[in-house]
Amino acid sequence: MISSKARIGVFGGSFDPVHLGHLLVAETALEQLALSQVLFMPTNIQPFKQDANVTPADDRVRMLRMATKSNPRFGVSTVETDRAGVSYTIDSLRTLQAQYGTGIVFILGADMLKMISQWSRAQELLTEFSLAVGIRPGSDEKEVTIQADDLRAKYGTMITPLDNIPIHVSSTELRARMKNGESVRYLIPDLVRIYLEVRRKEGERRFAHTKRVMDLAESMAGRFGEDPEKAALAALLHDYEKDPAGGVENDLAHGPMAAEAARNLFAVEDEDVLNAIRWHTTGRAGMSRLELIVFLADTVEPGRTYDSIDKLRGHCLEDLERGAAQVLAELKKYLEKKGLDVSPDTLAAIADLKGRRQPQQQKGIRHIGLFGRRNND
Ligand code: ATP
Repeated sequence: MISSKARIGVFGGSFDPVHLGHLLVAETALEQLALSQVLFMPTNIQPFKQDANVTPADDRVRMLRMATKSNPRFGVSTVETDRAGVSYTIDSLRTLQAQYGTGIVFILGADMLKMISQWSRAQELLTEFSLAVGIRPGSDEKEVTIQADDLRAKYGTMITPLDNIPIHVSSTELRARMKNGESVRYLIPDLVRIYLEVRRKEGERRFAHTKRVMDLAESMAGRFGEDPEKAALAALLHDYEKDPAGGVENDLAHGPMAAEAARNLFAVEDEDVLNAIRWHTTGRAGMSRLELIVFLADTVEPGRTYDSIDKLRGHCLEDLERGAAQVLAELKKYLEKKGLDVSPDTLAAIADLKGRRQPQQQKGIRHIGLFGRRNND
C-alpha cells in the first residue's frame, strides 16, 4: 500500500506533443521511487525557448490529459499554464509542495540535467528538491554520472538515475515526421495522434468548435451517466469530413463520412461512438443516449449564438429527450424557413422522441385525476 506521505513526482517539459519516451520515464519513476503519483507539468513559456513556435498550452494540456487518463497514478498539473508568462520551475515546485504538503521529486531527462545549473534560481531548486533523471538515447552515461556527482557535491541534491528503457524519440522529431506526412503511430498514444490529425485537418477556427463540443459532450456524459471518454472521442471526430465549401450535400453527408473515417483511418470500433458520429447531422429514430449527447453538444455548444440558444441549452442539460425534441423541432422550422428539405431521418427522430416522451405525459394526466388539480409543471 502507498503511504499518504509517499512523495510525488513532477515531470516538467513542453510536451509538444507528449510521447512514449515521456510516459515510460514517468512510469519508471513511479515504480523505482515508489511515488504516489506523477504529475506532468507542461510549461507555459520555457525560459530557453521563448521565441520558439510552440503549440498553444490548451492543446498540450488536452493531449496530456488524453495520454495519462488510463493510468490512475498519472495526472496533469496546470500550475504553469495557468500562470501567465515565462515558467520558472522553482516557483511551480514550491506551489505544488505547498498544495500537496509532501516531498516532491522533479523528473527530467538526462539532456536537461546538464543545463539545470543554469536555470533560474538553480541553487534554491537544487537544494530544496530531489531529482530523478531519465536516460535518453545519446546521453553519455559516464557524463551523466559526473554531472550528478557535481550537483550532489555542490548543492547536496538527492539525484536518482532512472533505469528506464531508452526510447529514441523526441517531440521535435515527431513534429517533423507529421509535417512530412510520415507515421507517428506507436510513438504517441492513439488518442493524441487522432487529436493532432483532426487539429491539423480542421485548422484553428473549426477545431475551436470541435473542442467546445468535446467539452460539453464530456460533461453531459458525466451528468447523464454515459461514458465521458466515448462522448469526447465521438465529439473529436464528428466534423472530421466537414467541408466548408461542400454546400448542403456535405452538410448532410459529413456525419456518415466521418463515421467511415473513424472506423477506417482511426480504428474506432465502438458502434455507439460510430453512430454518435454518423447521426450527428440529422438525428434518427431510436438514438442512443450517447448519440443524443453528441448531437445536442454540437447544437448548443457555447460558441453558438442563435436566438433561443440559452433556453435550449438549459433544456438539454436538464433532460436529454426533451432537449433533443426541442432542438430538432427548431432545426425543422429553420430548414423549412430556408426552403430546404428536412431529412426523413430528422422527421423520424422527431416522431420517435415524441413517442418516447408520451408515457411521461400520460403519467402527468393520471396525476391530475388522483389529486383533483392541474399540475402545471
Ligand atoms: P523537444 O524535442 O521539443 O525538445 P522533447 O522530446 O525533448 O521535446 P520535452 O517536452 O522538451 O520533450 O521534454 C520534457 C522532459 O522529458 C525533458 O526533461 C526531457 O529531457 C525528457 N524527455 C523527452 N524525451 C525523452 C525520451 N525519449 N527519453 C527520456 N526522457 C525524455
